[in-house]
Amino acid sequence: MSGASSDVSGASSGGSSSLRRGGKIIGIPKRCWCGTEIVPLMSKSDHNPYRRYFRCAHAAAKKLMNDNHVFKWIDEVLINEVESLQFKIARHEEQLIEMAKTETLLAEKVQMTVEKEIFDQVEQVLIEAKASMKKMMVLGLVGCVVLGVIVGKVV
Ligand SMILES: [Zn+2]
Repeated sequence: MSGASSDVSGASSGGSSSLRRGGKIIGIPKRCWCGTEIVPLMSKSDHNPYRRYFRCAHAAAKKLMNDNHVFKWIDEVLINEVESLQFKIARHEEQLIEMAKTETLLAEKVQMTVEKEIFDQVEQVLIEAKASMKKMMVLGLVGCVVLGVIVGKVV
């Protein structure tokens, strides 16, 4: 009884679960997963009289029941929409605060850099000015001496 290579490798998890389409619908749907347009209709049932809903036009035409084509009460869609908008607004506000923070930091950094550059330039100019002043003074002194010598010789 030699086991004829019973290859039991059931560990190959090949995610075979296909994407379930037409699951949760957030916002106002445009098309059903089947490709048919979504139409707004009004309920005539006793439970929800005059309540408006979105429905897959194909399913509505065929009067399908308990199917997985798009069906969504409009008031619920609107509530979802408002909720997701509130969430988005909150996130945008956070981002704005974050951006304002970085902008202030950046502005401070730029100002510091500019101030430092100006300071460096002014210092450079001052050093140059001092150097040329010294040169002028030396030249003037030499000139005076030379002039004095000449004048002294002449007189
Ligand atoms: Zn459909």
